Amino acid sequence: MASLLTTPSYLKGNSMHHRLPTLVYIFCFFLSTMQPPAQAADITVFQGATIIDGRSATPLRDAVLVVEGAVIRYLGTKSGYTVPAGARVVDLTGKSVIPGLFDMHVHMGITEGHEISADLYNQARIQRDVQRHLAFGVMHVVSLGFDRQVIFDVREAQRKNASPGARIHTAGSGFAPVGGWRTPVPPGATKDTDWYNRPESVDDARRLVRKEAARKADIIKVWVDDGRGQYVKMTPEYYGAIIDEAHKNNLKVVAHIVYLDDAKDLLRRKVDAFAHSVRDRMVDNEFLQLAKSYGFTLIPTLSGQRMYPDYAEENTAHLSHPRLAKIFGREFLEELRKSTAERARNMPTLASARQQFDVAMENARLAVKAGIPLTTGTDTGVPGAFPGLGVHREMEYLVQAGLSPAQAIQAASLNGARLLGIDNKYGTLEAGMVADFIILNADPTTDIKNTREIFAVWMEGKPVDEPQESRDAVDAHGAPAQ
Ligand SMILES: [Zn+2]
Repeated sequence: MASLLTTPSYLKGNSMHHRLPTLVYIFCFFLSTMQPPAQAADITVFQGATIIDGRSATPLRDAVLVVEGAVIRYLGTKSGYTVPAGARVVDLTGKSVIPGLFDMHVHMGITEGHEISADLYNQARIQRDVQRHLAFGVMHVVSLGFDRQVIFDVREAQRKNASPGARIHTAGSGFAPVGGWRTPVPPGATKDTDWYNRPESVDDARRLVRKEAARKADIIKVWVDDGRGQYVKMTPEYYGAIIDEAHKNNLKVVAHIVYLDDAKDLLRRKVDAFAHSVRDRMVDNEFLQLAKSYGFTLIPTLSGQRMYPDYAEENTAHLSHPRLAKIFGREFLEELRKSTAERARNMPTLASARQQFDVAMENARLAVKAGIPLTTGTDTGVPGAFPGLGVHREMEYLVQAGLSPAQAIQAASLNGARLLGIDNKYGTLEAGMVADFIILNADPTTDIKNTREIFAVWMEGKPVDEPQESRDAVDAHGAPAQ
């Protein structure tokens, strides 16, 4: 867990304490208390960058961004600001800054190399995954429905600052009917998961929602899908009760959907989000009006829908990202690219995945036109869908769906924070907000793919370590937790 301190060269000469091994940290702490207090020691002034704040449609150029401790103190133009004596000044001329990103649809801790299995799920792999997310500037992840108690423990450790990585939000166990939805086992999986809440009556459904609320789940997940006719589908009686009980317990509900009719019925019951687009046909006016009539958000998860077709068509240039190579190693990536392409081409559902993507994309376009808020989700959690990178890919798809680059960045930041109800602290770059941001080498407003040109990631006012080779971070044969 302890990593070498790699002070970024643009900060050389400054004392950065982020993620030093504890003993070194304590030593530094004592050293610093023995010295006279430095002036404005904890203030960093970033000058000259183009800043996309997550709220405004137009970027702020040649900006000044001031961070004190973990919080943004000032964002504006040079003319309105005097650098305090003793502040650290970082020149970001030619660079861009965007808020920390949100992945509102992930699954965690169940992969190792080519393998995916329920048996792999443990604390160490969850911790590994959130660090991988963070390496790409993803600072919040919402795990939708395959979690056990251990994720709540990791979340707790994060809140005590004892565990680095993207901040975890979890649905705990998602809801599916008895005899109903099972997530298709991806090719190569060695073991299926059955970690669902499967209520036996409507009252039982309400009881199970209260149980998730009691262990402080962040959101409730329901699957309303018959898996192309092979399963019992959750009935309105059940999801109506789940939504109602969740709202009584101050929890939002996100629904996995495919069909337009189910989507409209869920909207009538004020579901808070869909973790996919409608994929059976084009949405109609009634859908768009319902979705606009209250605080609903669409998580179209386009990159997830397109993953296997992309591999099959060898449309995988995005996998040559240097951070991905650092984390996984080039050889492994190449091997994975080949084997996943092979598997994808042999998948009986490949043609329908392509078709569903096309419908999902058209429906995302209609949602954009209608002004329905969108946010980013990736369905990351199977081999081949990489933590962190997926959100950047998703923003590219959102731009194809009609958002401007600044709006796509807003979808991936502010809109995620709003859905989680944490936009008072996270999701935008403004005075008073937590200093979570990504420094980019290129301007994402001219090409959304430039969000991948990561220069540095800052979380809570501190630079995050560069990603390191981490395949050995977890014992591949580590005993699953619980
Ligand atoms: Zn999912």
